[in-house]
Amino acid sequence: ELTEREEVRLRAGTPGSRRMHERAVRSMTSGVPSSYQVRDPWPIYLTHGVGSRVWDVDGTEYADFHNGYGSMVQGHAHPAIVRAVRDRIGLGSHFAMPTEDSIVVSEELARRFGLPQWRYVNSGSEATMDAIRIARGVTGRDTIIKIFGSYHGHHDYVMVSIGTPYADIGPAEHMNSLGYGAGIPQAVIDLTVPVPFNDASSMERRIEELESEGRLPACVIMEAAMMNLGVVLPEPGYLQAVREITARHGIVLIFDEVKTGLCVAPGGATQRFGVRPDMVTLAKALGGGLPSGAIGATAEIMEVVASDRVKQVGTFNGNPLTMAAARASLLEVLTPAAYDHLDRLNDRLIGGCDTILARYGIPGYTVGISSKGCVNITDAPIRDYTSFMAHQVAELPDLAWLYHANRGVLMAPGREEEWTLSVQHTDADVDRYLDGLDQLAQDLVA
Ligand code: PLP
Repeated sequence: ELTEREEVRLRAGTPGSRRMHERAVRSMTSGVPSSYQVRDPWPIYLTHGVGSRVWDVDGTEYADFHNGYGSMVQGHAHPAIVRAVRDRIGLGSHFAMPTEDSIVVSEELARRFGLPQWRYVNSGSEATMDAIRIARGVTGRDTIIKIFGSYHGHHDYVMVSIGTPYADIGPAEHMNSLGYGAGIPQAVIDLTVPVPFNDASSMERRIEELESEGRLPACVIMEAAMMNLGVVLPEPGYLQAVREITARHGIVLIFDEVKTGLCVAPGGATQRFGVRPDMVTLAKALGGGLPSGAIGATAEIMEVVASDRVKQVGTFNGNPLTMAAARASLLEVLTPAAYDHLDRLNDRLIGGCDTILARYGIPGYTVGISSKGCVNITDAPIRDYTSFMAHQVAELPDLAWLYHANRGVLMAPGREEEWTLSVQHTDADVDRYLDGLDQLAQDLVA
């Protein structure tokens, strides 16, 4: 009944969103621009955001822990980014010709990630699509390996073995390649081979098996820490083992840092965990709220692009507005002091959540890294997709979302992601979050 009670409360608190939704469905499918914005009973329609807060069409203020699926680690309407975009737009917003800002951004990304060559796109999906094509071009191979359950965007190569029901996962040694939703050709699905996270021996055995079948993979695409099962950190030695195995087999190692990139350290998970991939993909927070994406790689790999053997193209790549926002974001907002602030706030939030779980005797633990984190209410640790599906209480994330929304805290909806802090978040925001969780915990045990 907790869910029912909170749903009634949400309905009563969001009449303006209800009216917008009734109007929206007549011209926009499901009333939203993207299916990940669907929400029962209706989505909350926003008007604006400043700092750590956003406001909905009913005038309700929320502390924003959703942060645009982690894209807004700078916080909303950051003065440095507003200034950069305002200055740029008056000078022309698009030429499909390079501007100096794209050079500055490349130099800064090269410094942060230790990869010398960069190219641009406009989303995370485009970044992973182009990175995989480049890896295929470099190696002349078609098969790729991804981690079971990882999300790398909405193109066909990677819409495989995510969101899979528990019964269909398959054993660690031979996980099932399954298309996510209709419309993905079987021929493409067959080229994408999933392996479990945090299990380097399974990956190695699968690679050897594929090699013996004459289909050695072009690349392994993975997140260094999985960011769509809440947060799943790599176990000690795992990333080092993956690095060693891929190097030994001449397989391109791609770290998809679309979520981790600028959110967990200046040089992303690559820096945080100290393992250097051959390629990195970025998006989300790179553009400070403008559509963005980037691919970084070694000079040897980018040779296939420089020589035009692999086509890496796009009308809006390196868009001047995006590059101006990225430049301001990298040089003025996401400074070493900003990461110190995120680390301190996140440690406080993680500690506070764990204290609440302990106080009410709720089984589980809180896990996080810099700006990101989640509470796992579970009786066993989550180390990969299989344990994520087996051990979490499926209804709880939705209930937690409702509890928080009704108390002025916006979380990312669903089970995949819980919070991203921004550099403009404060202790008051963390307190509000902890209050919401405390009330949920209290009602759960009552
Ligand atoms: N890669 C990762 C790790 C992601 O989390 C996402 C989106 O959530 C993507 C790629 C796709 O990015 P986009 O939604 O910008 O296409």
